[in-house]
Order: sequence, then structure tokens, then C-alpha cells
Amino acid sequence: MARKLAAGNWKMNGTTEALTEVAALTALLEAEACEVLLCPPATLIARMADMAHGSALMIGGQTCHPNASGAHTGDISAQMLADAGASHVILGHSERRADHGETDEDVAAQVTAALTSSLIAIVCIGETEAERDAGVTLNVVGTQLAGSIPEGADLSRLVVAYEPVWAIGTGRTPTLDQIADVHDHIRAELSGRFGSAAQDVPLLYGGSVKPSNAAEIFAVSNVDGALVGGASLKAADFGGIVSALSGA
Ligand code: PEP
Repeated sequence: MARKLAAGNWKMNGTTEALTEVAALTALLEAEACEVLLCPPATLIARMADMAHGSALMIGGQTCHPNASGAHTGDISAQMLADAGASHVILGHSERRADHGETDEDVAAQVTAALTSSLIAIVCIGETEAERDAGVTLNVVGTQLAGSIPEGADLSRLVVAYEPVWAIGTGRTPTLDQIADVHDHIRAELSGRFGSAAQDVPLLYGGSVKPSNAAEIFAVSNVDGALVGGASLKAADFGGIVSALSGA
């Protein structure tokens, strides 16, 4: 059985004053029956990791460069994330794929770097609205999955997040049946490639998850948690999603 994970992606949001939300969230967390992760901008990782120390909250990055160090102005390596206190890193988010042209091949190289630095890699995949309308969602997701996970990856350090691009930040979500179809497909594809170890890979749904829809999404087949953008910025909202997952 895959472990359950509620992961928050703060994207390019948050300065020092936002740390009050982290304090509020750690105070809310009790003996949760799921893992809880926040991925802030890189500038907040070390401070948030200090604040989370001794609590159930884990801290992650939002991307990493495939190389450990070098002449890559503005980039951050997996080794640096781990050194700052991160345990996880989000890779291949659709905003990185769109804004920075990251390909499946790039994402696979990032996953290798993350695993080498003992981080847990959260690999994001998902179709655009045009692809869903064209009926090619499972093909698109399958191709991204195959290309973004390198050969020989240690599945015990892998998480996959299914995030339909058209559901991110829009307030729109797929139907529960549509989520089930994709998650079942991802599990089957991983099992076909990696065998029984695939059962333990947490599969997260991402795209407009909020406290009011979290419980029904967490009841869907092969949904082991969520990757949450907007609703992870406020402790009360993210805490509601964590509670829903904990009770699922
Ligand atoms: C995301 O960016 O990964 C995301 C799911 O955003 P939101 O929850 O705001 O749709």
C-alpha cells in the first residue's frame, strides 16, 4: 500500500511574513495518518525547515538542476535543496514545462539528481484541455510517465502527481471517474514497467483541491493524496485538506 501524502506547492509566493502560516500549520498537525509537505520558494526552505524541525511537517523544493553544481546562474541543485533541509522536490510541474520548456528527458535527469541526493522526487504529469478534448489523455499521461522516470529509479523515493493542466488554479476539476481512470492507468503503467514495487508509489491528484472537495477526491481509486497549490498557502485551508486525507 502506498503511503498517503498531502503536499503543498507555494509556487512563487511567500516572503518572511508568510512564515506565520507555517507556525499555524505545525500547531494544527497532530498525529496525522498521512505525510504533510510544504514546498515553498527556495528563499524560505531553510527557515521553514528549521521551523518544521520536531513536527510532522516536511519541506521540499519546487525544481532542481540535473547537475550538482556549476555555471548555471539562478538554478538550484538537488544537493543544495537537501543541504537546506528539504526532503522532497517537485519535478516537471506543468508551469516548469510551459515556462522553462522542460521536457520529459529534462525531468528524468532531474529525478536522477534528486534520487542521488536522497530526496524524494514528486514527478508531475497531466494533459492540457485540448488533449483531453481530443481524447488522448491516457496516451499523453502514459508518455510523460514513461519519459520522466529514469531507468532503474528507486521507486521507494518516487511520488507521481497527476495534474490536469486545465484544472490548475482554475477552480475546475475532472469528474471523479475521470480521476479514477487516469490514476488506475498510472498504477497499471508503473506496475507493467517496475513490477510490484509500483504498488507503494503514492499517486497524488493535483488541480483545484480545496477542503470542500478533498474528501471525495481522496475516496477515488488509487488516489493517495494531493498536490495543492492555492489552498496550501493558508494553514486553515491546507489543514482541512490534511484532515480529510488523514481520515480517508
Ligand atoms: C499546482 O500548482 O500544483 C496546483 C495543483 O495548483 P492549484 O491547487 O491552485 O490548482
